[in-house]
Amino acid sequence: MRSKNTPFAFYLERLARAAQTLGLSKAQLKALQTPDKILDKKITIKTDKGRKETLRAYRVQFNNARGPYKGGIRFHPAADLSEVKALAAAMALKCAVVGIPLGGSKGGVQCDPKKYSSTELERVSRAYVRAIGGSLGVDTDIPAPDVYTTPEIMAYMLDEFEKKVGHSEPGMITGKPIALGGSEGRGTATAQGGVYVLEETVKALGLDRKKLRVAVQGFGNAGYHAARILHELGYHIVGLSDSTGALIAENGHKIDPTSVYIAKQNGGKISEHYADKKSMERDGVHVGINEELLTMDCDILIPAALDNQLTADNAANVKAKIILELANGPISPEADAILEKAGVTVIPDILANAGGVTVSYFEWVQNRQQYYWTEEQVLERLQPIMTSAFKAVSGLVKEKNVSYREAAFLLGIQRITEALKMRGVR
Ligand code: NAD
Repeated sequence: MRSKNTPFAFYLERLARAAQTLGLSKAQLKALQTPDKILDKKITIKTDKGRKETLRAYRVQFNNARGPYKGGIRFHPAADLSEVKALAAAMALKCAVVGIPLGGSKGGVQCDPKKYSSTELERVSRAYVRAIGGSLGVDTDIPAPDVYTTPEIMAYMLDEFEKKVGHSEPGMITGKPIALGGSEGRGTATAQGGVYVLEETVKALGLDRKKLRVAVQGFGNAGYHAARILHELGYHIVGLSDSTGALIAENGHKIDPTSVYIAKQNGGKISEHYADKKSMERDGVHVGINEELLTMDCDILIPAALDNQLTADNAANVKAKIILELANGPISPEADAILEKAGVTVIPDILANAGGVTVSYFEWVQNRQQYYWTEEQVLERLQPIMTSAFKAVSGLVKEKNVSYREAAFLLGIQRITEALKMRGVR
């Protein structure tokens, strides 16, 4: 029996509805309900103090009907099998929505990476590949970074893998450092992809970007670059936040994300960007708690930090009319229903943040060709993919009279089912 309210149970519920809408057969539904393979292992590492620790390590290969499995590996205490399964299914859908020839998988090590030194993290990374590596490979399953895993960790994993197989195979993992075959443009890909989709949304709604006020939750890779690019395009950035607090601009004032970024590099906290009250008053900005940002007065809200940020407790207070989910799963199912009822346009994660996996796909292509592109070439290729994914999703929004989330889910399921059919799953 499956437990209710787990991330994978939510996926199954949505899938059941999509199966009715799309008229899926029993065999197709079964293929989409069940991961192809689950690796559930125990890995043991030695800490710097010589103590042995055993950790749960997962890899879920969800579906490869459209191409090799693809999905990140997270190091997190909450990385359990239900979460990893749901994220693997989301990866299959995401790759299908943007039309790249890859399937879906996800990995996780249940641990608190913050308590490990860099050498301990290296040992976790290498142990993961020793346990799971037999199921990975350039034509089989291609991992990437996810929560608390970095390009450096990808480098350790590649190194361990190549030691094991005895040949060079850089395309077995993406999100690598450039020196080991990483792609130019990977760092800004998620934000840039999201901005391309947002621009299409704004156009479709007939809005003028120069009049739109944007609040961004999270000031890391996804959030900072999104805020910076949107500021450069003329949007008004009125709110920024990180784990330490928020900066909120009032009465027509706006914030320059790059100057906050520079200050954060020096000081460490968004909330410490302004050293004195006088300059805050001059710029019409105040420091708030990060919850305040989610419900502040703005036109566009971009959650780009953690999952489950908008819930039944705060969704009714959201003022934004557009939400771009750069984070994975920032809106709970209950909050989603509240926002839909309130007429908020939510651009779902499997479309909004798919720029990241698309440039991972470009990295894999470059590794296979042994021929590398410039950042300009990467972005030139990213834009048409994101734009046509948006158009395919918005076509379904109109055709089926559903939300963008429902439409993106339907499009992903439709495309995977098409491939399954051609493989005889009828
Ligand atoms: P990151 O670690 O670079 O940044 C996370 C940011 O969130 C940090 O600035 C942190 O201070 C902030 N934060 C943490 N708790 C917060 C809170 N309570 N309120 C406000 N801010 C808070 O991570 P990232 O790579 O930018 O990823 C962010 C989200 O985007 C995640 O959900 C991730 O899964 C998703 N995502 C990222 C990529 C990518 O390529 N980076 C791709 C797809 C999806």
